[in-house]
Amino acid sequence: MSELLKKLEEDLRNCQKCGLGKTRTNLVFGEGDSQADLMFIGEGPGKREDELGKPFVGVAGKLLDEMVESIDLTRKEVYIANVVKCRPPGNRDPLPDEVKACWPYLEQQLKEIKPKLIILLGRHSLDRFLPGQKISQVHGQALRRDFPGIGRQVFFAAYHPAAALYQQSLKATLLEDFKRIPKILEKIKEESGLENKKEIEDLREENKKEQIIKKKKQSKLFGE
Ligand code: SF4
Ligand code: URA
Repeated sequence: MSELLKKLEEDLRNCQKCGLGKTRTNLVFGEGDSQADLMFIGEGPGKREDELGKPFVGVAGKLLDEMVESIDLTRKEVYIANVVKCRPPGNRDPLPDEVKACWPYLEQQLKEIKPKLIILLGRHSLDRFLPGQKISQVHGQALRRDFPGIGRQVFFAAYHPAAALYQQSLKATLLEDFKRIPKILEKIKEESGLENKKEIEDLREENKKEQIIKKKKQSKLFGE
């Protein structure tokens, strides 16, 4: 894990910025590869996560592992975090104030990890990043947006694994949606490669122009 994320996690261990700080057992910072291309963002820790201080380690976590493995990755190769880092009591939905209080930490994680693709797990995570979108309509789709503080980013909406546990038919949908992730990632990489090339060409052009200006100046200096 990156030094910055390690430090942030240490700093947060005793966070009391919102009411969830009082009722949690352990803060669940998030874990995985800090240079991952893929970052999964769930809603908030459940009972098991609160006990262990790790994201997605309960039954929903098992299903997430299965999904991640279905695209030939392991959880060590991705990064997993949540919209709020402390468990809402009784697994209630996080309140808007709690989401807001916890946002700067997720933002810092995003800025450090710079994932190529963010998988939004469930409607709360979707709502945080793409408000107004309905999960039943946008699941399985890659959506590119300019996000304040983060910049241009590709999001992929998926049903929450816990929802797929309650409703069997969603599990098949989730699996189908996941199948699209490797291709989307490949496309993003291709595009960013192209952007890099374009940036290099732009730089070359600029350099050329600078060289010409320099030469002109020199010829003025020496030629006259
Ligand atoms: Fe702090 Fe976030 Fe936990 Fe609230 S949920 S106490 S803001 S770490
Ligand atoms: N559900 C979530 O949204 N996050 C977890 O970490 C576990 C279950």
